[in-house]
Formats: sequence, C-alpha cells, structure tokens
Amino acid sequence: MKPAPFNYVRATGIDDATAALASAGGRAKILAGGQSLIPMLNFRLVDADLFVDINQVGGLDGIEESGDGLRIGALTRHHRIETADAVRGRFPVLAAAMQHVAHLAIRNRGTIGGSLSHADPAAELPAMSLLLDATIEIAGPSGGRALTARDFFVAPLVNALEDSEMVTSVVLPGLPPGAGWGFDEVARRRGDFAIAGAGCVLALENGAVSEARIALMGVHDTPLRATVAEALLVGNSPDADALDAAAAAARDAVEPMNDLHGSADYRRHLAGVVVRRTLDAAVARAREEAR
Ligand SMILES: Cc1cc2nc3c(=O)[nH]c(=O)nc-3n(C[C@H](O)[C@H](O)[C@H](O)COP(=O)(O)OP(=O)(O)OC[C@H]3O[C@@H](n4cnc5c(N)ncnc54)[C@H](O)[C@@H]3O)c2cc1C
Repeated sequence: MKPAPFNYVRATGIDDATAALASAGGRAKILAGGQSLIPMLNFRLVDADLFVDINQVGGLDGIEESGDGLRIGALTRHHRIETADAVRGRFPVLAAAMQHVAHLAIRNRGTIGGSLSHADPAAELPAMSLLLDATIEIAGPSGGRALTARDFFVAPLVNALEDSEMVTSVVLPGLPPGAGWGFDEVARRRGDFAIAGAGCVLALENGAVSEARIALMGVHDTPLRATVAEALLVGNSPDADALDAAAAAARDAVEPMNDLHGSADYRRHLAGVVVRRTLDAAVARAREEAR
C-alpha cells in the first residue's frame, strides 16, 4: 500500500523538532529509524499530517558513561547497542536481548528512542528498560523532564509522551556488583517479535538473593515487572523450589492476549517457562561471579 499524503520536515536541533511537533496540534510524528513508522504509514495505520525527521539532530546518537551506568542517546541504533563494549561489559543482559531484535538490516536503522516510543509490549527494548530501571529523558517546547520506564509504558503502542514531546536519551543505572542475568524468548522464527520473553537480574549475598528483577515481554498489554515473583526470591536461597515458585508467580501475574501467534493460555504457560530458564541462568552466573 501507499501512504496518504503527508508533510515532512528535517529538524536540525531538539528545539526545532519539538517546535515542529507543537505546531501540528497533535498531528505530527517523529521519524527516527522508520522501521516501525514507515510500515505503519504504508498500511495507513498511522494518521499524521507531519513527519519530523530527527536523523540530522546532533547529540542524540551515542553511548556515554553516567555514574556507574550509561546514558544512551535516543538515536543510537540497535546494532550499536548490541555491539558496544560498554553495554556488553555493564549490561550483558541488554546486549543479549538486542540479538533478538528483528534482523541485522533493521537493527542497523532502528533506534532505542524509536523502540521505546513505539511501546510494543512484545519488543525487547521496552522490557529491558523496565528490567534495568531506566530513566527516559524527554524534551518538549517548554523544557525537559524525565520518566521512569515504569511510568512510560501506558498501553499497547501507547506511551506517556505529550504530543509535542520527544525522547532524547535513556539512562541506565549500574547493576549491583556481581549480579547474574538471564534472557530468553520464544518466537516462531529468529528475529520475529517474542510470543513470550523474559529477562532477569539477580544478585546474591551470602548465598541468598539480595536483589531480584524480572521483566516480561509479549505476555501483557505493556512490558511487565514480575514484582510478586521478585519479592518471593529476595532473602531466600535460590534453590529449585524457590525458582519454581517465582516462575509460577510470574506466570500468574501476566494477562496475555489471544492472537494468531499464540493463545493467551499458551503465552501464560510460556511466561513461566522463560522466567524459570532465565532464573536458572542468572543464579549460575551470580554463583560464578562469587567464586
Ligand atoms: C520486519 C520487522 C521485524 C521487527 N522485529 C522486531 C523485534 O523482534 N523486536 C523489536 O523490538 N522490534 C522489532 N522491530 C521494530 C524495530 O525494532 C524498530 O526499529 C523499532 O520498533 C522502532 O525504532 P525506529 O527508530 O525505527 O522508530 P520509527 O519507526 O522511526 O518510529 C516508531 C515510533 O516511535 C516514534 N518515535 C521515534 N523516535 C522517537 C523519539 N526520539 N521520541 C519520540 N517518539 C519517537 C515515532 O513517531 C513512531 O511513532 C521489527 C521491525 C520490522 C520492520
């Protein structure tokens, strides 16, 4: 299909971009990597009068240290995040998750700001931002603000941005030293969106879990932190019974949709499976770190 007629502006700065968004009274959209927006435009699933291309805006592309964590610019491409030494070293769970995002051609163009803003509940980056307690930095015509990932994702393909706001960067605070991690997803083919996926981060102190984080994708109307499962783990030895109980709690927390890729029951079942697998991997890595 062909898109409906639209206007296009190439922004040269953040102020320029947010002013252009504001000028359209809710009828404008940012164009970043175009890997979600352009297909939706061609299928006429997006209805906008103006597209504001931010690919020439300076300062939005890059990965820099921020305390013991990282700040990732909104225009940073998926492949750069996947391969950056800083990400592999500090957030190996994120580097692992990025390998499941679509295919290389798409990862060469798609951006972190675009993926978060698109807010697909089955996408890897929204779930990773939740897992890693990300702060999402936002610019608007009247200044900047920041939202936690927990406050950013509102509903399927709906985020908490105002019409004239854009994401400028994503800040990931450092993980607890020696934390283990796991990532797993089930998709029909490599590169497809997850039918169900999970990531976890787990820290141990004296053999007991001192911190547990579990995030799920593809099994709820937004990416989801399995907070009940996390609470079950903390303070306890991560033995098989404890991991089984946490996986069951995560499975009970999700409210999946039925669609052509899988029934709600199947996705709920898979949620428990992927959480259990990621917990196993995280415990093994945390124990290895503690040696
Ligand atoms: C065949 C195919 C398979 C895919 N498989 C996967 C997959 O398995 N996992 C996965 O996670 N993704 C997948 N994707 C999506 C891909 O990762 C996209 O790159 C990503 O979702 C959107 O990033 P983008 O930079 O291309 O954004 P765009 O397509 O340019 O924009 C997407 C949306 O975000 C808005 N936006 C973009 N940047 C900003 C910003 N800085 N501030 C505010 N709003 C902004 C746009 O207005 C638009 O509404 C797939 C895409 C395709 C075509």
